[in-house]
Amino acid sequence: TTTKAAPFAVRRADSTRAPSLPPFGQFIGGTFIPSTSDATVDVVNPATEEVLTQVPAGTVEDVDAAVAAAVAAKAEWAAKTPKDRAAVLLRVADIIESNRELFETLEAANTGKPEAVAEDDISSAIDTFRFSAGAARAFSTVGADDYAENHTSVIFREPVGVVGVITPWNYPLLMAAWKIAPVLGAGNTLVLKPSEQTPLTTLKLAELIADEVPAGVVNIVTGPGRVVGNRLSEHPDVDLVAITGSVGSGQKVAASAASSVKRVHLELGGKAPVVVFADADLEAAAQGVRSAGFWNGGQECGAACRVLVHESVAEKFTELLVREVSDISVGTPGAGADVEIGSMISGAHYERVLAALEDVRKDGLTIAVGGNAIDGPGYFIEPTVVTNVPAGAAIASTEIFGPVVSVETFSTDEEAVARANETIYGLAASVWTMDSARSLTVPRQLDFGTVWVNSHLVIATEMPWGGFKGSGYGRDLSSYALEDFSRTKHVMYNRSQG
Ligand code: NAD
Repeated sequence: TTTKAAPFAVRRADSTRAPSLPPFGQFIGGTFIPSTSDATVDVVNPATEEVLTQVPAGTVEDVDAAVAAAVAAKAEWAAKTPKDRAAVLLRVADIIESNRELFETLEAANTGKPEAVAEDDISSAIDTFRFSAGAARAFSTVGADDYAENHTSVIFREPVGVVGVITPWNYPLLMAAWKIAPVLGAGNTLVLKPSEQTPLTTLKLAELIADEVPAGVVNIVTGPGRVVGNRLSEHPDVDLVAITGSVGSGQKVAASAASSVKRVHLELGGKAPVVVFADADLEAAAQGVRSAGFWNGGQECGAACRVLVHESVAEKFTELLVREVSDISVGTPGAGADVEIGSMISGAHYERVLAALEDVRKDGLTIAVGGNAIDGPGYFIEPTVVTNVPAGAAIASTEIFGPVVSVETFSTDEEAVARANETIYGLAASVWTMDSARSLTVPRQLDFGTVWVNSHLVIATEMPWGGFKGSGYGRDLSSYALEDFSRTKHVMYNRSQG
């Protein structure tokens, strides 16, 4: 059954500022150079369906040239003191900050995300560079002691060398910053492949920092995952490959990386459960799901997309949630600071989300609000709440990556924990309760890399982000990221010699 509780319409900006586009080419060795192929990929504004520009559909040869540039630059960059590397990262942060509006406009134009989300993305990217600058100085050689007779051990944290980075489309500049900052902070050089759909802010960053970062330390190669991403993953001179993306792409990267036994860092998908106990502040929980379930249009790996609510409060909670979601405003970038959700990233993704909603209808579940496409141009879908979801339903286990939240019920704490853990993913979860014992016990029983209590999707640059199980391994943010992008060496000195 479908109850359309709220008619959603797209608020459209009267006029849009033309985004400042990056130069055309691959950023290799500190400058933009042509690809070895003339093939290009169209970059589209998904809120208007207009083609913004083209970028090169990169080649294996482009990747090889970029890796050679990163190899050539690595000894000098690794030899810099943490203080000097930190100075470069702080300059990068300042450059992003002084071009904040340019980045926000460009990011919004390439993703269809509202201003509030683009602003948050850029602020978080700046903070990531500032944090990594400080963390790089606090983090270097660790530990020296005597463990064997006449021998002194010293532990060194060294750069791994050249890091390959593959980023997704949902937070293009922010996901690039989450890798570039710690990878450089730990003393590595890198080659980054942005999503073919959203390369513009990453290329713009390369353009603006070209005079600050030594040539070859940061290289950007655009193009398809199966060509450019795959070559980065298998390249014998790439020492570690890090991808943020879907489980399927992560599996392919890990398989290609196996040929050269390189290290792999995987930040993959998620399907975050939101466990609402009978003693929770239901209004706060409903507001939490409104913001964390629909942030970035639900195109968020930690989105609060799967509610498990105690049966005794399910009706009340659902009513509150439907009220919250009915109030969400949809719009194009520039339509107003209060717009909460924008368009889906592409026509293909829009079709995928609509197909999932079609399956929901076929399965006879209730669409309590939303559930439909909104008239174009642009790939807009109504914020949607699906209720009466039985255990094991497809909507509760597959990553929809759109503005869709499902609601299931449970009867006991044990059932809540078991059902929440019943997913291939293990990225993030939240627990809503006013009971202090539960708030201590349940998070420990949940198989997720981040667990919030009475909150969801609040991220701190100082704290690690990353998953368990199918969501991958490796940590972004925090000093754990610098650790992941470095290697440990033990040097042992025999004091009785020399
Ligand atoms: P995607 O897997 O389609 O693409 C991610 C990147 O991988 C792109 O740059 C793509 O070109 C590349 N790629 C694709 N196939 C490849 C291959 N065979 N070899 C190498 N690279 C390849 O993901 P997406 O649609 O861009 O992003 C959405 C996904 O990212 C979701 O599953 C989401 O959960 C996940 N994500 C995870 C996090 C996290 O922190 N865990 C953050 C953001 C997004």
